[in-house]
Amino acid sequence: MTTDRSNSAIRLAVMAGDGIGPEITAATLAVLQAADRAFGLNLAFEDAPIGLAALRAHGSTVPDESFARAQAADGVVMGPVDTASYPEGARNPSAWMRTRLELFANIRPARSRLGLQPRCGKPVDLVIVRENTEGFYADRSMFVGNGEMMPTPDLAIAIRKITREGSTRIAESAFRLAMQRRKHVTAVHKANVLRISDGLFLECTRAVAARYPQVKYEERIMDAMAALLVRDASQFDVIVATNMFGDILSDEAAEISGSLGLAASINAGTDHALAQAQHGSAPDIAGKDLANPSSLIGSAAMLLAWLGERRGDDGLARASAGIERALDEVIAKPEWRTADLGGPLGTKAFGEKVAAALKA
Ligand code: NAD
Repeated sequence: MTTDRSNSAIRLAVMAGDGIGPEITAATLAVLQAADRAFGLNLAFEDAPIGLAALRAHGSTVPDESFARAQAADGVVMGPVDTASYPEGARNPSAWMRTRLELFANIRPARSRLGLQPRCGKPVDLVIVRENTEGFYADRSMFVGNGEMMPTPDLAIAIRKITREGSTRIAESAFRLAMQRRKHVTAVHKANVLRISDGLFLECTRAVAARYPQVKYEERIMDAMAALLVRDASQFDVIVATNMFGDILSDEAAEISGSLGLAASINAGTDHALAQAQHGSAPDIAGKDLANPSSLIGSAAMLLAWLGERRGDDGLARASAGIERALDEVIAKPEWRTADLGGPLGTKAFGEKVAAALKA
């Protein structure tokens, strides 16, 4: 469908984040601007500061104004954040956005790129569908207070929240995605020891599986799954998991497919979506023009696809596919790769190569 965008720009809020965030966000914006020109998207970008720079300038790691801007936008592009170095009580931007915008599904693909040898020997093309708003994350499990506590100096407790609603909607997301792919869902759990909480998660995934008889459904215990991915990640299609298991397995899967620097993801709900790389703020290489921006560029491509599907707008879907093709083309050339993949290019130069490779 051709869409007349002359009057209505697609507004993207841009949250650059900490560490390598500003560098990979700049490279991603260069690619999005090239996609805007090539596909006539009419994108408009609005800066919405977060992180340590926002704390210094505005007194908060997620200023209310930045959140409001993101909430009102059509989509959000967010760089990684260095929450480990935040002062006690500072807002965690990832958790803030995921819970308040109800971004319950964290979609994390791991796909071997042309010319890059996957670490398990066979080409990998899988997607981890991770629950994003509950689980073992202490800042997500309570209405008031925090899910971690210390009743005595020698006793620490963490609470893990699993709900029927959260488990059912993430399972729905996984099966819907599987229907567009190879029709195979693997649920990851630890119900052998977490009988009640992962028992509830499995009860919900099985109920959803029963509504999708065309999709092959299987279950794997988390520890075995970690080994199976290393042994042969090519056997998996869609993997659905609770929050922390999905977080851990997706870094593993991304590294197996080539590099954590390639790991794209979006956080999506019913009304909002946020593009965010899988990795963190990489303080060890921040400010050195060494980071691979593919992860955030790929995440932005996923955001365009999400917007295209919601709006029934083929131009956005084609722009998304165009960015993916450009990434493949650039990564296939060893002389155009970034340092994590053994190449000579810096973050900025890599972004420029991808932008130049974009074709409508
Ligand atoms: P990390 O993911 O930042 O880095 C792990 C390793 O991968 C490092 O060696 C780093 O240099 C490398 N790496 C990561 N991204 C890369 C890229 N694009 N290109 C090349 N190499 C890359 O994990 P960490 O060092 O454990 O965490 C740093 C901070 O990030 C912490 O404060 C952590 O809480 C935070 N974090 C944030 C997010 C997020 O914003 N979504 C996710 C994970 C961790």
